[in-house]
Amino acid sequence: MNNFTFSYPTKVYFGKGAMEHIKPELAKYGRTVLLAYGGGSLRKTGVYDQILGILTAAGKTVVDFPGIMPNPTYAKVQEGAALVREKGVDFILAVGGGSVIDCCKIVSAQAKLEEDIWEMETAKKQFPAEFVPMGAVVTASGTGSEMNNGAVITHEERKIKGGMMGAYNSFAVLDPELTMTVPFRQVISGAFDTLSHAMETYFGQPHGHNNLSDDISEAVMRSVIANIRVLLRDHGNYEARSELMWASAMAENGILKIGKVTDFQCHQLEHQLGAYTDCNHGQGLAVIHPVLYRHICGAGAEKFARFARNVWGIADRATAEETAQAGVEALADFIREAGLPASFTEMGIDPSKDLKAIADSTNLTAGCCKKLSREELLEILQECV
Ligand SMILES: [Zn+2]
Repeated sequence: MNNFTFSYPTKVYFGKGAMEHIKPELAKYGRTVLLAYGGGSLRKTGVYDQILGILTAAGKTVVDFPGIMPNPTYAKVQEGAALVREKGVDFILAVGGGSVIDCCKIVSAQAKLEEDIWEMETAKKQFPAEFVPMGAVVTASGTGSEMNNGAVITHEERKIKGGMMGAYNSFAVLDPELTMTVPFRQVISGAFDTLSHAMETYFGQPHGHNNLSDDISEAVMRSVIANIRVLLRDHGNYEARSELMWASAMAENGILKIGKVTDFQCHQLEHQLGAYTDCNHGQGLAVIHPVLYRHICGAGAEKFARFARNVWGIADRATAEETAQAGVEALADFIREAGLPASFTEMGIDPSKDLKAIADSTNLTAGCCKKLSREELLEILQECV
């Protein structure tokens, strides 16, 4: 096993009524709270009023920070950081999904910095150490953002959707009933994002057979697949929503990554697709994954065959390559079954989009079993159209 460091700074309150923990948590911090969220749906569903009531009853002064978009922009981060400084915000409460939480993680860091955090992280490779404390109430589950300090931010002028490092949440409220306030399509694409996180970790190195992290990944993947199937039959199923919400956190809280060098080549491609098209993250991943895996599974046949056997229940075929391919096709069939798109055209992405620019600006990762060239990335994108 590779050497690793593991720490776990976020306290999780999970289950029905978990929001009751916000008040005692906020008693630890100052008076002024930035209430950050996305679109108007939070107000329509009543969640906004519920949280505002908790904050008001706790004697907090609330500073509203609405309008955080699905692919949060660097400009939005700067707007939030300016607001935090101007209003003397003591605590940031992010309410929503990964986009809102990611934006707030970087707002929290930028508000404490004199210099521009994008330049600091991307050019100087230095990372922030001081933060405005923050917490999260998760409504849209899938990114697992609530339990780590990573953030994905789109720099619109530079056309880069890139990973950044920001604050950890000091606490996260995960109430599966809140996922009922999110459109069902987003629940499924969020759950597929979770499956993608587990796959991209599982297919990272090393590929040893006795790797505990990989065994846990397989359990997470099987659980996500089974519970998506339950939800497709019964949209309101609380147990399935609970399992998916915890699987989302599990996939990104670092446990699956222990001892691993992760792959995340599919995410890198999707990020640049998102930078150019502002597409839905889970849907972009659903289109790219099978195409990418068809390109590489022959080079990692043993691992892909293990995936086929242990995740999809496929019996061994004549060769490891054939078993591996059957696993990738089982994934593609499941994507269809879940009602997720199988092409960029189905996603409504203009096929004349500059795929070459997307391929050329995509980070090449260490790869799971085959390091891809830019030409291959372009071929993969063209096959996704
Ligand atoms: Zn993701």
